[in-house]
Amino acid sequence: MKLSIALIASALSSASAFTTVNNGPRFITELNMRQPIMAGNWKMNPATEADALNLANGFCALLNEMQGACAIDSDNPDCTEVVLFPPFPFISKVKDIVQKNGIDVGAQGVYYEDKGAFTCSVAASMVKSVGCEYVLCGHSERRALFSDSDVNINSKVKKVLEFGMKPILCVGETQDEYDLGITQEVCAMQVSKDLAGVSKKDMKDVVIAYEPVWAIGTGLVCDADAANEVHKFIRTVLAKMYDDEVAQSTRIQYGGSVTPESVDGLMAMSDIDGCLVGGASLFADKFARIVNFD
Ligand code: PEP
Repeated sequence: MKLSIALIASALSSASAFTTVNNGPRFITELNMRQPIMAGNWKMNPATEADALNLANGFCALLNEMQGACAIDSDNPDCTEVVLFPPFPFISKVKDIVQKNGIDVGAQGVYYEDKGAFTCSVAASMVKSVGCEYVLCGHSERRALFSDSDVNINSKVKKVLEFGMKPILCVGETQDEYDLGITQEVCAMQVSKDLAGVSKKDMKDVVIAYEPVWAIGTGLVCDADAANEVHKFIRTVLAKMYDDEVAQSTRIQYGGSVTPESVDGLMAMSDIDGCLVGGASLFADKFARIVNFD
C-alpha cells in the first residue's frame, strides 16, 4: 500500500502560543469505546533536571488554565489519558509534579533481565518502583541505533507486563519499506513477533503505536486516512492472533511528527486512539494543545 505524504510545516516557533477553545469535556469513548491516550516521549531531552521540571510545570500550568477544555484523568475511561516519558533521572520528580493533574509517567525502555552485571541498563522493577505505569518497547530509535531485535523487544514486552506495567509497542515501516510498498507486511511481522506469547488477558494492558519511521522527527506526517488504514490493518492482525474483542479494544496510537496543526485530523479517524509525540512534547504549549485535541 502506498501512503500519501503531507509535508507539515516543521518550523513552528518555540514561543508560539496556541489558543484552545473551551468546549467542555469530550466523551470520545462514546465514539469508539477506547479511551484516548496521548503520550509525550521526551527522548534524551531536556539537558538538565531544572529544565525538565520547568517543562513539566509549564505543561501543568497550561492544563490548569485550560480546565474544562478537556478532561484529563488516566483512571477515568471518559477522560483522555496522558503519559509523559522523561529520561530516567527525571522520572520521579516529574511524576511528583504531574500526578496532581491526573497524568502518568512512563519509562522510555527497560532491559529484559531482572538484575545483574548489565552496565547502563535499567530493570523493570526499578522503573516500577519509581511509579512508572508505562514503558516504551520497540521504538524505532532503539531498533535502528541500539540493535533492538524483535526477539529482545518481545522479552521486554513480557517483562513489562510481568511487573504490572503497560507496554506501548512501537511498530512501523522505514522509508525503504514504505517505498517498496510493504508497510502491512512489516507491521504484521513486528506485531506478531513482538507480542508472541502475550496472553489475551494481558492484551488489555498493551498499547500499540503505529509510527512510520520516515515520519519520526522529519516533519513528514502520514496522511490521516492512510494512517487510519494501517491502524485498521493492525486490528486484522490482532484479530488473527487473538480475536475480534482484542482487535477492537486494543488502543492504537499514531506517532510521527504530530503537531497542534495535525492532531485534530488524526484524532478524527475511527481507528486512531491517541498519539505518541516526540518533538512537540518538548514545548508545553504545543503538547497542551495536542492533548486538548478537538
Ligand atoms: C517519537 O519519538 O515516537 C516521535 C513520534 O517523534 P516525533 O513526534 O518528533 O516525530
